[in-house]
Amino acid sequence: MCPPFLFSKFAGNFDQMVFSSKLIEDAVQEFALLPGIGKKTALRLVLQLLKMDEQDVDAFTTAVGRMRHEVQFCKICHNVADTEVCMICVNRARNSTQVCVVETIRDVIAIESTQQYNGLYHVLGGILSPLDGIGPGQLYINTLHDRVKNNGVEELIMALSPTIEGDTTVYYIARQLKDLPVRITTIARGIAFGGELEYADEMTLARSIAKRLPIENYVNSAGS
Ligand SMILES: [Zn+2]
Repeated sequence: MCPPFLFSKFAGNFDQMVFSSKLIEDAVQEFALLPGIGKKTALRLVLQLLKMDEQDVDAFTTAVGRMRHEVQFCKICHNVADTEVCMICVNRARNSTQVCVVETIRDVIAIESTQQYNGLYHVLGGILSPLDGIGPGQLYINTLHDRVKNNGVEELIMALSPTIEGDTTVYYIARQLKDLPVRITTIARGIAFGGELEYADEMTLARSIAKRLPIENYVNSAGS
Protein backbone atom coordinates (compact mmCIF):
# COMPACT_ATOMS: atom_id res chain seq x y z
CA MET A 1 0.00 0.00 0.00
CA CYS A 2 1.12 3.48 -0.73
CA PRO A 3 1.58 5.80 2.24
CA PRO A 4 -1.05 8.56 2.04
CA PHE A 5 1.51 11.32 2.53
CA LEU A 6 2.67 10.80 -1.06
CA PHE A 7 -0.38 12.71 -2.25
CA SER A 8 -1.42 16.24 -1.60
CA LYS A 9 -4.56 18.07 -2.48
CA PHE A 10 -2.39 21.18 -2.74
CA ALA A 11 -0.41 19.69 -5.63
CA GLY A 12 0.04 22.27 -8.36
CA ASN A 13 -0.11 25.35 -6.14
CA PHE A 14 3.62 25.89 -5.90
CA ASP A 15 6.17 27.43 -8.21
CA GLN A 16 9.33 26.45 -6.39
CA MET A 17 9.48 22.82 -5.31
CA VAL A 18 11.12 22.16 -1.99
CA PHE A 19 12.04 18.54 -1.39
CA SER A 20 12.68 16.81 1.87
CA SER A 21 14.51 14.05 0.02
CA LYS A 22 17.54 14.67 -2.16
CA LEU A 23 16.93 11.30 -3.84
CA ILE A 24 13.43 12.33 -4.89
CA GLU A 25 14.69 15.72 -6.02
CA ASP A 26 17.42 14.13 -8.18
CA ALA A 27 14.95 11.74 -9.80
CA VAL A 28 12.52 14.61 -10.51
CA GLN A 29 15.31 16.58 -12.12
CA GLU A 30 16.24 13.66 -14.37
CA PHE A 31 12.64 13.17 -15.56
CA ALA A 32 12.27 16.91 -16.14
CA LEU A 33 15.09 16.70 -18.71
CA LEU A 34 12.73 14.85 -21.06
CA PRO A 35 10.88 16.90 -23.68
CA GLY A 36 7.32 17.79 -22.72
CA ILE A 37 7.87 16.85 -19.06
CA GLY A 38 7.65 19.77 -16.64
CA LYS A 39 8.62 19.53 -12.98
CA LYS A 40 5.08 18.78 -11.83
CA THR A 41 4.70 15.92 -14.27
CA ALA A 42 8.18 14.71 -13.31
CA LEU A 43 7.16 14.67 -9.64
CA ARG A 44 4.00 12.74 -10.48
CA LEU A 45 6.03 10.11 -12.38
CA VAL A 46 8.60 9.81 -9.62
CA LEU A 47 5.91 9.35 -6.96
CA GLN A 48 4.30 6.75 -9.19
CA LEU A 49 7.61 4.86 -9.33
CA LEU A 50 7.83 5.09 -5.55
CA LYS A 51 4.47 3.34 -5.35
CA MET A 52 5.50 0.50 -7.65
CA ASP A 53 7.11 -2.81 -6.65
CA GLU A 54 10.89 -2.57 -6.49
CA GLN A 55 11.29 -5.35 -9.09
CA ASP A 56 9.07 -3.48 -11.54
CA VAL A 57 11.13 -0.32 -11.08
CA ASP A 58 14.32 -2.36 -11.58
CA ALA A 59 12.90 -3.77 -14.81
CA PHE A 60 12.07 -0.21 -15.91
CA THR A 61 15.52 1.21 -15.20
CA THR A 62 17.26 -1.84 -16.69
CA ALA A 63 15.26 -1.52 -19.91
CA VAL A 64 16.09 2.17 -20.22
CA GLY A 65 19.77 1.64 -19.40
CA ARG A 66 20.20 -1.28 -21.80
CA MET A 67 18.38 0.60 -24.54
CA ARG A 68 20.77 3.53 -24.20
CA HIS A 69 23.94 1.45 -23.94
CA GLU A 70 23.21 -1.36 -26.37
CA VAL A 71 21.07 -0.03 -29.22
CA GLN A 72 23.10 0.39 -32.38
CA PHE A 73 22.43 1.91 -35.74
CA CYS A 74 22.28 -0.54 -38.65
CA LYS A 75 25.39 -0.14 -40.77
CA ILE A 76 23.36 -0.69 -43.94
CA CYS A 77 20.17 1.34 -43.50
CA HIS A 78 20.92 3.39 -40.31
CA ASN A 79 17.76 2.15 -38.63
CA VAL A 80 17.97 1.22 -34.94
CA ALA A 81 19.17 -2.31 -34.29
CA ASP A 82 20.26 -4.66 -31.52
CA THR A 83 23.09 -5.94 -33.69
CA GLU A 84 25.34 -4.48 -36.41
CA VAL A 85 22.67 -5.05 -39.03
CA CYS A 86 18.98 -4.54 -38.29
CA MET A 87 16.27 -7.22 -38.40
CA ILE A 88 14.76 -5.73 -41.55
CA CYS A 89 18.03 -5.78 -43.53
CA VAL A 90 18.83 -9.39 -42.57
CA ASN A 91 15.33 -10.65 -43.38
CA ARG A 92 15.66 -12.58 -46.62
CA ALA A 93 11.91 -12.69 -47.09
CA ARG A 94 11.95 -8.95 -47.77
CA ASN A 95 12.31 -7.45 -51.23
CA SER A 96 15.88 -6.15 -51.34
CA THR A 97 15.41 -4.50 -54.74
CA GLN A 98 13.08 -1.93 -53.20
CA VAL A 99 14.34 0.69 -50.73
CA CYS A 100 12.12 3.24 -49.02
CA VAL A 101 14.03 6.43 -48.18
CA VAL A 102 12.85 8.14 -44.98
CA GLU A 103 14.04 10.94 -42.70
CA THR A 104 14.03 9.28 -39.29
CA ILE A 105 13.60 5.94 -37.54
CA ARG A 106 10.13 7.07 -36.49
CA ASP A 107 9.14 6.98 -40.16
CA VAL A 108 10.36 3.37 -40.37
CA ILE A 109 8.20 2.47 -37.38
CA ALA A 110 5.18 4.24 -38.91
CA ILE A 111 5.52 2.46 -42.27
CA GLU A 112 6.28 -0.92 -40.66
CA SER A 113 3.15 -0.54 -38.54
CA THR A 114 1.01 -0.45 -41.70
CA GLN A 115 2.24 -4.00 -42.53
CA GLN A 116 1.86 -3.09 -46.20
CA TYR A 117 5.50 -2.69 -47.21
CA ASN A 118 7.92 -5.54 -47.74
CA GLY A 119 11.02 -3.77 -49.04
CA LEU A 120 14.01 -2.34 -47.18
CA TYR A 121 14.66 1.16 -45.84
CA HIS A 122 17.28 3.85 -45.83
CA VAL A 123 17.20 6.38 -42.99
CA LEU A 124 18.73 9.68 -44.14
CA GLY A 125 18.88 11.19 -40.66
CA GLY A 126 16.96 14.32 -41.73
CA ILE A 127 16.39 16.37 -44.86
CA LEU A 128 18.35 19.12 -46.56
CA SER A 129 17.73 22.39 -44.79
CA PRO A 130 20.33 25.09 -45.50
CA LEU A 131 18.70 27.48 -43.01
CA ASP A 132 19.30 24.95 -40.23
CA GLY A 133 22.79 24.21 -41.51
CA ILE A 134 21.89 20.72 -42.74
CA GLY A 135 23.69 19.97 -45.98
CA PRO A 136 24.29 16.70 -47.87
CA GLY A 137 27.31 15.96 -45.66
CA GLN A 138 25.10 15.69 -42.58
CA LEU A 139 22.82 13.09 -44.17
CA TYR A 140 23.39 9.46 -45.17
CA ILE A 141 23.28 10.18 -48.89
CA ASN A 142 26.68 8.71 -49.74
CA THR A 143 25.76 5.36 -48.23
CA LEU A 144 22.49 5.43 -50.20
CA HIS A 145 24.48 5.98 -53.38
CA ASP A 146 26.72 3.01 -52.51
CA ARG A 147 23.73 0.77 -51.79
CA VAL A 148 22.09 1.60 -55.10
CA LYS A 149 25.36 1.10 -56.95
CA ASN A 150 26.41 -2.17 -55.34
CA ASN A 151 23.37 -3.95 -53.93
CA GLY A 152 20.99 -4.39 -56.87
CA VAL A 153 18.47 -1.78 -55.76
CA GLU A 154 15.91 -1.28 -58.53
CA GLU A 155 13.52 1.19 -56.96
CA LEU A 156 13.87 3.97 -54.40
CA ILE A 157 10.60 5.05 -52.84
CA MET A 158 11.08 8.58 -51.51
CA ALA A 159 8.90 8.96 -48.42
CA LEU A 160 10.03 12.39 -47.24
CA SER A 161 8.12 15.32 -45.75
CA PRO A 162 5.80 17.12 -48.20
CA THR A 163 7.71 20.39 -47.77
CA ILE A 164 10.10 22.51 -49.82
CA GLU A 165 13.00 20.89 -47.92
CA GLY A 166 11.61 17.40 -48.57
CA ASP A 167 11.22 18.11 -52.28
CA THR A 168 14.70 19.66 -52.45
CA THR A 169 16.13 16.51 -50.88
CA VAL A 170 14.30 14.28 -53.39
CA TYR A 171 15.65 16.34 -56.32
CA TYR A 172 19.15 16.38 -54.86
CA ILE A 173 19.20 12.59 -54.42
CA ALA A 174 17.71 12.03 -57.89
CA ARG A 175 20.49 14.17 -59.36
CA GLN A 176 23.17 12.30 -57.42
CA LEU A 177 21.88 8.98 -58.72
CA LYS A 178 21.03 10.00 -62.25
CA ASP A 179 23.71 7.77 -63.79
CA LEU A 180 22.58 4.66 -61.94
CA PRO A 181 19.87 2.33 -63.27
CA VAL A 182 17.36 2.91 -60.47
CA ARG A 183 13.72 3.97 -60.63
CA ILE A 184 12.88 6.76 -58.21
CA THR A 185 9.29 7.11 -57.07
CA THR A 186 7.64 9.23 -54.39
CA ILE A 187 4.80 8.29 -52.08
CA ALA A 188 1.43 9.64 -53.18
CA ARG A 189 0.41 12.87 -51.54
CA GLY A 190 -3.16 13.88 -51.43
CA ILE A 191 -6.30 14.23 -49.45
CA ALA A 192 -6.17 12.47 -46.08
CA PHE A 193 -8.54 9.52 -45.69
CA GLY A 194 -11.62 10.83 -43.92
CA GLY A 195 -10.61 14.40 -44.77
CA GLU A 196 -12.96 16.82 -46.45
CA LEU A 197 -12.03 18.34 -49.78
CA GLU A 198 -12.92 21.90 -48.87
CA TYR A 199 -10.45 21.88 -45.97
CA ALA A 200 -7.48 20.67 -48.02
CA ASP A 201 -4.89 23.33 -48.82
CA GLU A 202 -4.43 24.32 -52.47
CA MET A 203 -1.06 22.60 -52.83
CA THR A 204 -2.41 19.28 -51.54
CA LEU A 205 -5.49 19.53 -53.75
CA ALA A 206 -3.38 20.44 -56.80
CA ARG A 207 -1.06 17.47 -56.21
CA SER A 208 -4.01 15.15 -55.69
CA ILE A 209 -5.41 16.10 -59.06
CA ALA A 210 -2.03 15.93 -60.79
CA LYS A 211 -1.31 12.47 -59.29
CA ARG A 212 -4.83 11.09 -59.75
CA LEU A 213 -5.23 7.30 -59.92
CA PRO A 214 -7.24 5.07 -62.24
CA ILE A 215 -10.38 3.82 -60.51
CA GLU A 216 -9.02 0.23 -60.46
CA ASN A 217 -6.14 1.31 -58.20
CA TYR A 218 -8.51 3.25 -56.00
CA VAL A 219 -10.84 0.30 -55.56
CA ASN A 220 -7.92 -2.05 -54.89
CA SER A 221 -6.29 0.19 -52.31
CA ALA A 222 -9.59 1.00 -50.64
CA GLY A 223 -10.47 -2.68 -50.41
CA SER A 224 -7.14 -3.93 -49.08
ZN1 LIG B 1 19.12 -2.13 -41.62
